[in-house]
Amino acid sequence: MDDLERQRRLRLERDALLDTPNCLACLHRMEPTDVDGVPVWQCPECGTTQPA
Ligand SMILES: [Zn+2]
Repeated sequence: MDDLERQRRLRLERDALLDTPNCLACLHRMEPTDVDGVPVWQCPECGTTQPA
């Protein structure tokens, strides 16, 4: 992997982190998933979902 590729990946990871909401109930970082084909965020800790 060259430097440009590494920088691009780092930027993508940072953006993904910034865009990831925290669970309103327990403040865990939510994970992207989908329910019936609709993208949503789901908390791995308490199972709360919210629209992506
Ligand atoms: Zn939660």
